[in-house]
Amino acid sequence: MECDKCPSEAVMHAAYSGLHMCEEHFCASVEKRVRRRVREDNLLPDDASIDDPETWVIGLSGGKDSVVLTEILADTFAEDPRIELIALSIHEGIEGYRDESLDASKELTDELEIQHEIVTYEDEFDVQMDDVVEDDPENMSACAYCGVFRRDILSRYAAELDADKLLTGHNLDDEAETALMNFLEGDIRKISQQFDASLGPFDGAEASQTRGEREEFVPRAKPLRDVPEKEVALYAHLRNLPAHITECPHAEEAFRGEIQQLLYKLEEKHPGTRHSIMAGYEQLAGLAATEYDDDNPDLDECENCGSPTTGEQCRKCGLLAALEAV
Ligand code: SF4
Repeated sequence: MECDKCPSEAVMHAAYSGLHMCEEHFCASVEKRVRRRVREDNLLPDDASIDDPETWVIGLSGGKDSVVLTEILADTFAEDPRIELIALSIHEGIEGYRDESLDASKELTDELEIQHEIVTYEDEFDVQMDDVVEDDPENMSACAYCGVFRRDILSRYAAELDADKLLTGHNLDDEAETALMNFLEGDIRKISQQFDASLGPFDGAEASQTRGEREEFVPRAKPLRDVPEKEVALYAHLRNLPAHITECPHAEEAFRGEIQQLLYKLEEKHPGTRHSIMAGYEQLAGLAATEYDDDNPDLDECENCGSPTTGEQCRKCGLLAALEAV
């Protein structure tokens, strides 16, 4: 099959748009979608300058999504002194998994010549995820512990590195799955908080008003969220990027797995489903964020670590105390 834009052979067909694309046009289209998202989410403020550059910290796991995001941003802003990129990788202490993805991350950041910080659960919390799974004092999934620890590190290090934005490599499938999960749980307040976690579809100025942006949090963004997972994987392959593709041995989000399968089927029968879910969800989340804006609970400091929390102790310190008591 021929590319719809030139006489070269097509390497992919996007059923949702009907387009067949060759390697060159496909890669250019992925890059264009990321750059358009950066522009539409107003990630680069007008007043950024050589004297006052923006620092963007990218959560780099070494998987295909964060590797592709880092590569495209580094390429886009290579000659732009208004942007400084810093990669932040986290080692959870999962044997046979994270070492290889960190090798991939290092290879990429060396090649791109960008600053790379590596943080471990062991140094930060004196725990390893393999032991946490073994002890499991709260009878929860591995990801429930891991997510709390990871969020703590990302927020804390983003602030320590003086980040203006914290960028993560969530793709279209990740976002559509999360949207559907939140919707099926029927919790509109959670949907409004979901919107809080990203710069979302609103412009920066409006977003900071409607979401009551708080000083404690570095704003987050997901510039890869318009690109389907399979296209991210194909881009990594075609560009020969050092992405690590093994799945974590502790991955066990059963509900997400069901939603993922459902979305595969829906997308196959009705191409464009993921895009329409996200278009509606972003509007809904924006409206919910406005509705709940005055409703933000006052945050105190955790008595143990000083992190923002609604109680006396933050969730991370609660989990660490439970693990210590085992
Ligand atoms: Fe952590 Fe779960 Fe991701 Fe494994 S799959 S790294 S346990 S969040």
